[in-house]
Amino acid sequence: MLIVMNHSATQEDINAVTAVIDAMGYIAAPIPGRERTAIGVLGNQGYVDDSKILELPGVQQVIHVSKPYKLVSRDFHPENTIVDVAGVRVGQGCRPVVVAGPCAVESEEQIVKTALFVKKAGADMLRGGAFKPRTGPHTFQGMREEGLKLLSLAGRESGLPIVTEVMSPDNVGLVAEYADLLQVGARNMQNFDLLRELGRIRKPVLLKRGMSATLEEFLAAAEYILAEGNEQVILCERGIRTYETATRNTLDLAVAPLIKEMSHLPIMVDPSHATGKRSLVPPMTLAALMAGAHGVLVEVHPEPEKALSDGPQSLTFQGFDALMTDVRRLTAFLGY
Ligand code: PEP
Ligand code: MN
Repeated sequence: MLIVMNHSATQEDINAVTAVIDAMGYIAAPIPGRERTAIGVLGNQGYVDDSKILELPGVQQVIHVSKPYKLVSRDFHPENTIVDVAGVRVGQGCRPVVVAGPCAVESEEQIVKTALFVKKAGADMLRGGAFKPRTGPHTFQGMREEGLKLLSLAGRESGLPIVTEVMSPDNVGLVAEYADLLQVGARNMQNFDLLRELGRIRKPVLLKRGMSATLEEFLAAAEYILAEGNEQVILCERGIRTYETATRNTLDLAVAPLIKEMSHLPIMVDPSHATGKRSLVPPMTLAALMAGAHGVLVEVHPEPEKALSDGPQSLTFQGFDALMTDVRRLTAFLGY
């Protein structure tokens, strides 16, 4: 429920409303705005009787929010959230960011070489998986802590903030020691214990959309992180399962502008996992930026044909360099 105060409501009026909400056993979350204050009501499991609230001085309107998310919604939080990843700002009004790197960290040489190259080409952050969520157990599962150390070394050598996936709540502390931005993969979007744990740290989180999650489920997953107190969340569209098999997933590009209507959180797009095909990554990267994404996540590998995972969708160094030339042109056109 959202209580909208009228613009002449005083602080006493606001305090009186929060006192009534407290007495009803719920949590009041005042949201000061330029024109007027709104007060969010949290902690209710169902419909809240608003009769006592409607009669209080200064109350203009009560809106019943039936969505499973509140803290992530624009209704509760009209101002855009800007997420700061080790000094790189992500969100509305900021230059769109490019996160680049291999699917997985494979060796010191591979990750350091990639880091230095993508930095030179203009990337803003380095990605690389150390804990890999593979479909089958007989494939490369990642270098785990050793991979985190190599990623951190590559981050230091290139000066790029690092982004890496965390798969289990038990590893949140470990991954947070190394990563600047902790990624939740599509397969773990509804790992609620993991989301809660990430809500308790003070580092930003990149939450990828589950491959068969609706937008409502996606935002409700983000709500778990915010509900524990961590508001530094970036959402990421990475394609969904459809009947189409020509691409690895179907890039649901309309979510970039749609998420901006529904939520104040930044939205990025991952054209690599969304398409699964190297040749489609550059055009879909540009399309995502044109659609208003706050950033893109692109897989790049020094020798994609030898990659231990996701080689067919990884750009070569040359391909990434060419893409960055187009990205710069497009972002200049967009006014950044
Ligand atoms: C990845 O980023 O390498 C990854 C596994 O992505 P997703 O969770 O979107 O499949
Ligand atoms: Mn991958």
